[in-house]
Amino acid sequence: MPQTITEKILAQHIREGELTKGTPVGIQIDHCLTQDSTGTMAWLEFESLGLDRVKAETVVSYSDHTSLGFKGESTDDHIFLQTIASHYGAKFSKNGNGVCHQLHYERFGVPGKTLLGSDSHTPTAGGLGMLGIGAGGVDVAVAMGGGLFYLTVPQTLRVVLTGELPWGAAAKDIAFEILRRISVKGGVGYFLEFDGPGVKALTVPERATITNLCTETGATSSIFPSDEITRQFLAMEQRESDWVEVQADPGAVYDKTIEINLSELKPLVAMPGMPDNVFDIEDVEGTKIDQVYIGSCTNGSYQDVKIAAEILKGKKVSSEIDVVVSPGSRQAWEMLMEDGSFLEMTKAGVRMIEPGCNACIGIGFVPGNEHLSLRTVNRNWKGRGGNKFGKLALCSPQVAAASALAGAIADPRKLPEVNVSVSSLTIDDTLILDPAGPSTEIRRGPNIVALRPQTPLPQKLAGEVLLKVGDGISTDGILPAGPLTQHLRSNLPEIAKFTFFYEDKDFAARATEKNGGFIVGGDNYGQGSSREHAALAPWQLGVKAVFAKNYARIHRANLINVGIIPFTADTDRLNQGDELEVDVSDLNASLSVLNRTTGEQIEICHDLSARELDMIRAGGLLAYTTQ
Ligand code: SF4
Repeated sequence: MPQTITEKILAQHIREGELTKGTPVGIQIDHCLTQDSTGTMAWLEFESLGLDRVKAETVVSYSDHTSLGFKGESTDDHIFLQTIASHYGAKFSKNGNGVCHQLHYERFGVPGKTLLGSDSHTPTAGGLGMLGIGAGGVDVAVAMGGGLFYLTVPQTLRVVLTGELPWGAAAKDIAFEILRRISVKGGVGYFLEFDGPGVKALTVPERATITNLCTETGATSSIFPSDEITRQFLAMEQRESDWVEVQADPGAVYDKTIEINLSELKPLVAMPGMPDNVFDIEDVEGTKIDQVYIGSCTNGSYQDVKIAAEILKGKKVSSEIDVVVSPGSRQAWEMLMEDGSFLEMTKAGVRMIEPGCNACIGIGFVPGNEHLSLRTVNRNWKGRGGNKFGKLALCSPQVAAASALAGAIADPRKLPEVNVSVSSLTIDDTLILDPAGPSTEIRRGPNIVALRPQTPLPQKLAGEVLLKVGDGISTDGILPAGPLTQHLRSNLPEIAKFTFFYEDKDFAARATEKNGGFIVGGDNYGQGSSREHAALAPWQLGVKAVFAKNYARIHRANLINVGIIPFTADTDRLNQGDELEVDVSDLNASLSVLNRTTGEQIEICHDLSARELDMIRAGGLLAYTTQ
């Protein structure tokens, strides 16, 4: 039977279950990545498994989110990550080397292999024909130890690309067009798989931009074929021997297909709110901006920044705004220095910041109140830039550079055409460290606090609805990113004090006073990042269950991993302050919640697999794995 790319890779990696859509399978993971924001917890969880060393083929611990070390706690975390990686046999990518996803496809990724990362944009590796999946830290910890990763086999959405991008439109606009058509929920339960003649017109970094941003559709992963262009890219990375061809079989069957004619695309902009709030450039052109930021794992490649540099060459950015460029990797950084672009951009008035996540996660360059920051990053929801009163709009490097000159959103097609082609790449792995082994002493700062033990599920859950939130609450809404919390990722008791901080700053105090309780949500609860802290922090505060209409994939898994039951319910009948009681002694039976405040008995459901039920009964994945 002809197979899609994802079916082929899954078939080669399934160790439990069968390749049938909608059924749970356990797959072998070849590569794992962690980053400094989620990595400290993932490595503490790995330690609690009691293994001598990592077992996955390639494990890389990256330091990128707080690489500037804006607090002493962050610097302590970096040293912890460096020494624990060395101790347990993983590579470590030091501060300033760049963003994990870009670095992984540049320096480590292998077509046809599986990658599990404690970061939601791990599907970026799909640009190389590698199956990258984002997951919570504990899932990654188990995979680092050689354990299986469990997922429900998704359906496949085929994206057929035809034509070629015209001047001014970019790879980013292909992903925007997909988001505009299917929305931030349209990829839920799907792999996105790209093919068609238009694929051949896209470089690996352009493909990686698309697989990165398609994470925002809610898809489990996105992937391109590994073809001659992939081989050439790996040859430039001096890793040609890692290349294998990965193509779908002729006649492979897809569940849905959409077609995009690249020749008809134009520059697009996602205005504040959600990545699918996409507009044609003509509809937002002239909108005044306060900042421009070019970089991140979405648009931090040498090709991306070079094209912006060519647009800015010999000109000055608007004196009314602040413009920052942060290349995504050391490779891009050095090449921009070597070809003179660094100097050109500096002369144009750009501030150059070392490779890392930086402003994308709100570490520096935080937008002012009611200011509009135009960025080449992938997320633009409230608070993402580190200030809930600042606004973020998303665009390509071409639009960002044209807008930097104008001081307002501008159409790059009105500027002379610029083309960039890359025929060689600079290799410098100075900041990638090989492990020394168990002789490395693990250095722990005072901010690194071990997790409390997970305890078995009781027969009955009772308590108050501590908070009711609306549709689409993101992981940033549950636990804010940025300077508020970024330095507290290794200290659950402290970071938990910021749970739902932007929704209700008294939440944590109320949850502590009431000895925990319940959360009521709406549609797509927990969309966004893989941040397991958005599940761990409520768990730390004693949250026992969430009632929502439905859940984003990674957050649902993270809730189960910490023993919080993700129930689905008619949440219109539950209100903040209601006293609830649920008998959970038999989770296979018909279930209901007693609303003691209104006297109503409300039917509730769950879609937990047999394995997930066992995890919930044990108190979470760590308790389940070590029992
Ligand atoms: Fe870093 Fe932003 Fe990419 Fe996340 S989305 S890995 S914060 S650059």
